[in-house]
Amino acid sequence: MKAGVLAVQGDFREHALMFAECGATPVLVRTPAELGSVACLSIPGGESTAIGRLLVRYDLVEPIRQAAADGMPIYGTCAGMIVLARTVHDGEPLLSLLDVAVRRNAYGRQSESFEADVDVRGIGVVRAVFIRAPRVEGIGPEVEVLAEHDGDPVVVRQGTLLASTFHPEIAGDARLHERLLSMTG
Ligand code: GLN
Repeated sequence: MKAGVLAVQGDFREHALMFAECGATPVLVRTPAELGSVACLSIPGGESTAIGRLLVRYDLVEPIRQAAADGMPIYGTCAGMIVLARTVHDGEPLLSLLDVAVRRNAYGRQSESFEADVDVRGIGVVRAVFIRAPRVEGIGPEVEVLAEHDGDPVVVRQGTLLASTFHPEIAGDARLHERLLSMTG
């Protein structure tokens, strides 16, 4: 199966490795045609403002929104979750697909980045790397919380959209990518 990784900015190489580890064929997505060739998409961590600007420049905003409407599973990590979110405090919403309100950089600066074990429903304990992570401050009625840390949702799902405020790909844990692949077809 071809698994797309949005490759405009951020840690897309690590995402590609996770899909490869699951036995899928990673495809770096930078054009609408590349998006059209994949069964699912991950949106990496990085800098959401940069990812947003590049998505606009590469004419990918509407194609991704359309793909999501057509049921394509999409997984956003950290900045990727911000790009998916409907409401962004200290930033601009971009894809407005996932019915959550997030606050960028809510845990503070780079030096406040941390790791923790989080128990993800249906998956088990995942080593979570939080790097200038957003905090989920509100969730809509369609959003299911799959994991919490210190009382905050850190993994959520809404239909075929999956998002985590942390990076499992940095700890090298492919199980959330595997979950995304299981949502295809
Ligand atoms: N702080 C970044 C942002 O707001 C996200 C950081 C990350 O993806 N690790 O976009």
